[in-house]
Amino acid sequence: MSVHLDSSVVRDINTRKVLSAVRQKMSTRTELARITHLSYPTVGTIIKALAKDGFVVDECLGEFGGGRKPMLVKFVPTARYIIGVNLGGAEPQAVLSDLNGAFVSSIVKGNIEHLEEDTTGSVIRLIEDLRNVHPFSWDRIIGLGISVRGSFDIPNGHYYYPGRTTPLRLQDDLEERFGVPVILERNASAAALSEWVRRKPTGIRNILFINVDKGVSSGLVVDGQLVRGFLGNAGEFGHVVVDRSGEFCPDCGQKGCLENVASLGAIADEARREGILFPEHDSVLDNYRDLVARARSGHDVALKCFARVTEVLGRATTSLVNVINPQLLVVGGRVIWHYPELLDAISDFVVANCWPYSKQGLEFALATEDKHNFLHGAIALILDRLFISIGDEFVADWNSHREFMGGRNRLA
Ligand SMILES: [Zn+2]
Repeated sequence: MSVHLDSSVVRDINTRKVLSAVRQKMSTRTELARITHLSYPTVGTIIKALAKDGFVVDECLGEFGGGRKPMLVKFVPTARYIIGVNLGGAEPQAVLSDLNGAFVSSIVKGNIEHLEEDTTGSVIRLIEDLRNVHPFSWDRIIGLGISVRGSFDIPNGHYYYPGRTTPLRLQDDLEERFGVPVILERNASAAALSEWVRRKPTGIRNILFINVDKGVSSGLVVDGQLVRGFLGNAGEFGHVVVDRSGEFCPDCGQKGCLENVASLGAIADEARREGILFPEHDSVLDNYRDLVARARSGHDVALKCFARVTEVLGRATTSLVNVINPQLLVVGGRVIWHYPELLDAISDFVVANCWPYSKQGLEFALATEDKHNFLHGAIALILDRLFISIGDEFVADWNSHREFMGGRNRLA
């Protein structure tokens, strides 16, 4: 089947350049020609085609000294929509976003048991539910991004639901069913991409994203590329062993991996072993919040638990920072969101223990405040294919790289 990202918009690099420039800033055709390094007539032709498809409109700036009115080209974010699906949380979610990544529907939720029984069928039903609640026409959908837990075998087009050995062809099946491009990604990688897509205009190109929730995972953007690895599983940070005497992990077969020390459940379990009694019917999250409240009031055992989390998470994160040398470290997930003080503790640990050259200019941030980073990540999978960060494409060019090296070109 032919998979299209809407008419000529994505196939043509110059069209993407112009559209991306307009999206970044409402501009005149002359400005667009300058920004994109395209000729004025080329820009004019592209704008005409984009206007016909509804992606841009002309906006008049009003009277201008009796001469010709300056016409600005304006981006229309609702020209098309993106479907974002998150299969990585406690319940599957789907949402509709505009071309700026803003949610334009409420979040529709599915059932995790159904997802486990019949992953593909369950995702199809989830998207049909979204369409029932927020009717849309399929020809207005530019792509479907999905952030998942589990693993990939990209060369063979396979996706494995967590704990399953039967390969799924989820991407192919959904493209076949809905006739729009589908992109799948590990949820932490998608979230890293989303953090990067939001910050691209600032010129940032190296981001380490760490999610600490029921599991621990990471996503890496290195030199302006999302790192996927050979099969698509790069960034799986949770199974780094941090305590040989720790609990057994059925997922990786090791003892004391990060996920079994620093995840939501593991922290609460450790507190229980240290003698803290939680109310009997409370959830893991309630237990965790209880522990946070105790830590904030200076409770010794709770503080000891968090000191251990800081130590193991800090140590593992420091290694990762030393390896990839990020400019920005973004941390999210309920372990952090319910106790943001942990971000400060981890930052202090990393700064104190990192190789001096890896921490120069290193910044720290909390992940997207609305806490839907995997849904934003799913949408970013499509946004990233559609839009080019203007100026970014030239950085990869070798001559620019030499300029960047200040003419001294240490690599030559
Ligand atoms: Zn493990």
